[in-house]
Amino acid sequence: MAERHPAILAVDDEPAVLAAVSRDLRRHFGEHYRILRAGSGAEALELLGEMRTRGDAVAMLVADQRMPGMDGTAYLVKARGIYPEAKRVLLTAYADTDAAISAINEVSLDYYLLKPWDPPEEQLYPVVEDLLTTWEASTAMDSGGVRVIGHRFSRETHELRDFLARNRVPARWLDVERDAEARELLKVAGVDEDRLPVTLLEDGTVLERPTVLELAERLGVAGQPAADHYDLVIVGGGPAGLAAAVYGASEGLRTVLVEREAPGGQAGQSSLIENYLGFPAGLSGSDLARRATDQARRLGAELLRADGGGRLLRRCPDRGPLVRRSARRRDRRRQLCRTGRRVLQRLREARLDAGEG
Ligand SMILES: Cc1cc2nc3c(=O)[nH]c(=O)nc-3n(C[C@H](O)[C@H](O)[C@H](O)COP(=O)(O)OP(=O)(O)OC[C@H]3O[C@@H](n4cnc5c(N)ncnc54)[C@H](O)[C@@H]3O)c2cc1C
Repeated sequence: MAERHPAILAVDDEPAVLAAVSRDLRRHFGEHYRILRAGSGAEALELLGEMRTRGDAVAMLVADQRMPGMDGTAYLVKARGIYPEAKRVLLTAYADTDAAISAINEVSLDYYLLKPWDPPEEQLYPVVEDLLTTWEASTAMDSGGVRVIGHRFSRETHELRDFLARNRVPARWLDVERDAEARELLKVAGVDEDRLPVTLLEDGTVLERPTVLELAERLGVAGQPAADHYDLVIVGGGPAGLAAAVYGASEGLRTVLVEREAPGGQAGQSSLIENYLGFPAGLSGSDLARRATDQARRLGAELLRADGGGRLLRRCPDRGPLVRRSARRRDRRRQLCRTGRRVLQRLREARLDAGEG
């Protein structure tokens, strides 16, 4: 049987509004999503319960705030219990803005849309597309082909899972104490429990107690620069490095960012960042890292995974071929690289890398 597409469920007591939002959603997203509708919160909750039982995926819940009996926020609070991972969007009139802002806290609302949303190409589709991309990214992550088997409280297991998640490698974690499947897989692979954590790759490779570096190499997470020359080399892919990559690449500089673990830095570990400008509902660190890496790549920056960016920097302007000088941009290029070297030198003198805090 063909797999069912994930659903977007719209709820509104006003038939004309419900018809309009369903029509617009179907027009743009109907190819990959089932657009379902309900005339009240109660009806929608019943439908969601049935879908959960069937194992259907629900990507997004769209609800009008003003509905008799159960308003949009109250409905989304309940719906969240059934499909916690679905994105939540509230349809509001201008007068309901306060209710929508409260809902950000009450129900972790992802977005509120002002009615009417005309033209949908500007007011509706970009927002919904963005939320669906985030939903797809997290869904793909949980159902991936790489499996990590380990103990819940093991540091090594945590490091591997963190590395996979932050590099956006779809992977599934199996707790050896709780998952019978984990013990079964270990038996089949012929691995003792004292060799945990174990990583099973999609091609059947079994890695016993791999380091993050070994895993990165086996998975082919980019480790070699694609070009001989760069205008700008950035060491460290935290928010500061990613921002530099975005700005450098957008200015037309040939840019490479070197990160030894995973893009996102410390911020990548945060479950919810609430003070980032332009995200009133907050965003997770992994979402921020994903958005920033996509933005940097789209603008042409290259992202490399490498231990010790110092090795690359030692090949900087005056010493080697990695960063090329040109007469026109010479000053800017040298300045950028010198700053990097100076910072790195200070870190070396203090025997420190960029730490937490
Ligand atoms: C759990 C947590 C939650 C947080 N929540 C918030 C919040 O809600 N709001 C907020 O404003 N701030 C928050 N912070 C702080 C915020 O994350 C940091 O201020 C921010 O990440 C600093 O960015 P950065 O790019 O300067 O450095 P970092 O994020 O530290 O990034 C530095 C990067 O450089 C890499 N690196 C270091 N040395 C090398 C090397 N030799 N070669 C290659 N790469 C290297 C590291 O792996 C790292 O990825 C939080 C921090 C943590 C840990």
